[in-house]
Formats: sequence, C-alpha cells, structure tokens
Amino acid sequence: MRALLALALLALAACATGAEPAPRWSIVVHGGAGVIERANLMPDVEAQYRAAMQRALDTGGAILERGGSSLDAVEAVIQEMEDDPLFNAGRGAVFTAEGRNELDASIMDGRTRAAGAVAGLTRTRHPISAARAVMEDSPHVMLIGEGAEAFARTQNLEQVDPSFFFTERRWQQLEQNLQLNNLPIPQRPTGAPQREARATWPDDHQFGTVGVVALDTRGDIAAGTSTGGTTGKRWGRVGDAPIIGAGTYAQNNVCGVSATGTGEFFIRIGVARDICARMQFNGESAQQAADRVIAEVGALTNARGVAGDGGVIVLDGEGRPAWAMNTPGMYRASLQAGGTPVVQIFADEE
Ligand code: ASP
Repeated sequence: MRALLALALLALAACATGAEPAPRWSIVVHGGAGVIERANLMPDVEAQYRAAMQRALDTGGAILERGGSSLDAVEAVIQEMEDDPLFNAGRGAVFTAEGRNELDASIMDGRTRAAGAVAGLTRTRHPISAARAVMEDSPHVMLIGEGAEAFARTQNLEQVDPSFFFTERRWQQLEQNLQLNNLPIPQRPTGAPQREARATWPDDHQFGTVGVVALDTRGDIAAGTSTGGTTGKRWGRVGDAPIIGAGTYAQNNVCGVSATGTGEFFIRIGVARDICARMQFNGESAQQAADRVIAEVGALTNARGVAGDGGVIVLDGEGRPAWAMNTPGMYRASLQAGGTPVVQIFADEE
C-alpha cells in the first residue's frame, strides 16, 4: 500500500513538473560523430552500424535489467565495440602517422567519482578494462604508454599483437591523410593481412570513437569512452577521450557524459564536466546543457582557423537521455527500462 502511494505521488510529481517519469535503468551509447551523410553511407554499411548500435543496447540493457551495475554495463558494451572493426576503438582503430594504433580510454564511477584512464596503449585488447583497472586497482587516475601497458599486464588483461587492431579501411584512410599532408607513408605493419581492394566507407571524418553512459537500478551512473584518436596523429598526441572532464564524466544525481569529436576542442572547453556543471549549478536540462556546450565547441577555432566539431551523449541524474552534435551525423542509441530502443545516425533523424 505504501509502495503504491509512493508510486502515485511520484507520478503526480512528474505530471506537475511536466517531466518524463524517471526510468528504472537507462543506457545511451555513441559510436562516433562526423561527416556521416545519407548520400555517402551505403545501405549495407548503414545496416551494419544500426545493427551494431542495437547490439550495444541489447548487451547493456540485459546487464542493467538483471540488476547489474552501470560500470559493468559500460565496460561490457565498450569491450564489444572495441572488438568491432566498424568503430575507431580497439580493433578498427585509426592509425598514427607512424602506422601504429595507439589506444586511449577512460571510465568514471558517478557514485564515488572515482575514475581511471589510459593513453597510448598498443597491445591491450580492451583499453576500457585497463582504464577500469587503473580506477579500481591503482592509486592513480591516468597511465600512459609503456607504463600503462606494464600495469595492464600485471592485471592479467589480455595482450595481443599490435596487428590485431589492423583494418584495411583505417590503413587506407591513413594513406589518404598522409598524402594530403605531404607526409611519408610508413610500411604496412608486420602481421597485417594482404592489401585489399578499396572499400567504400562513409568519410566519418576520422571519428568512430565509442562511448556509453548508464544508470543502474541502484541509481548509480557510470560513463566510459574508448578511441584510437584521430587519423595520422603524431608526436604522442592524446585527445579528450581519456581525459576525465573533457571526454568522460559521471556524477550520481547530476549527469553522465561521453563525448566524440575533435578532441583538442573538447579538452579546451572541458566539455563533459562543463555539461555536468551547467546541470548541477544552473539547473539546465541535459538537452540544454548538451546543446549549449556543443555550440561552444563549434564557436572555437584552432590555429589553422578550423572550428570544433563533434557530439555528446548525456544522461541526467535520473537517467533521461540527451544527445547533441554539430556534425552531419553521430552513431547513437538509447534505451530505458521498459522502453523502446532508439537508434539514430543522421543529425536530422527524429
Ligand atoms: N575525440 C577523439 C579524439 O580526439 C576522436 C573521436 O571522437 O573520434 O581522440
């Protein structure tokens, strides 16, 4: 009886504020933002992306539905996407100018605001799990390069030959990028398969990063992001994905955010934390905060006069999803307990 009364009161409160009732659990996923347009996305490739986004919801939703933690859901979905060559994370990551895959990832636990991040991994199959291990089993928040890899080995995280991450699509993207920039093309990595014919892929503007934000039935929010960075990156470049507050943020009762886009701009604004701060201190909704911060990204330019681009996925403290982008597309999907899955690619999809 008491429970019924509480439910009725909750429903009344929701009606009174006009807000959607809060879901029992919630998940939102992205697979990267960029120049993804109907005209250059072949129907079969589009179908592959939509299926992959639906799989992400199925995996995460199943964990949350059986009472699993948001951290477990975030890690499991990102692991799956890291293994999927469609995405610029783990296998399928973009190449550096030297022809290597250098992988970055981060994860944050909104309950405690503990966080872990790794950058420049070349052998750890699941960078997101390395980030989680940093959070849970080290006194640090961020580890890079050789040291991060050595730590991953101490955690018994699966190690693979660097050629594991190789895909023809990303290699050809690198060749194009280097030609455009008058840079030498490195040797094909050892262990890479024979050269394949040119495949037609959307010019996803070098993006394809993956990210997940989840709210579990205990009310805990977690967020994670994993990426190969940007094609042709040099000099140990690191983007926003492994930077807590830029590419990833989670704080119970406030928000969870994962970003994708030209990381340099997201770092300069501190996108993920800025969205959460707007929600926490200004009372902005997830949608308002996301829209405003993405508008700010687009208003910044770099030393070459190029403006910032990308997108974000957000959950508010009660699991209501939002997303925003200033690119023609972003692979994205969301699902709430008892709800209908939403999978979208193009910016104008409703
Ligand atoms: N944000 C990533 C980075 O700058 C790239 C991406 O999202 O595609 O490394």
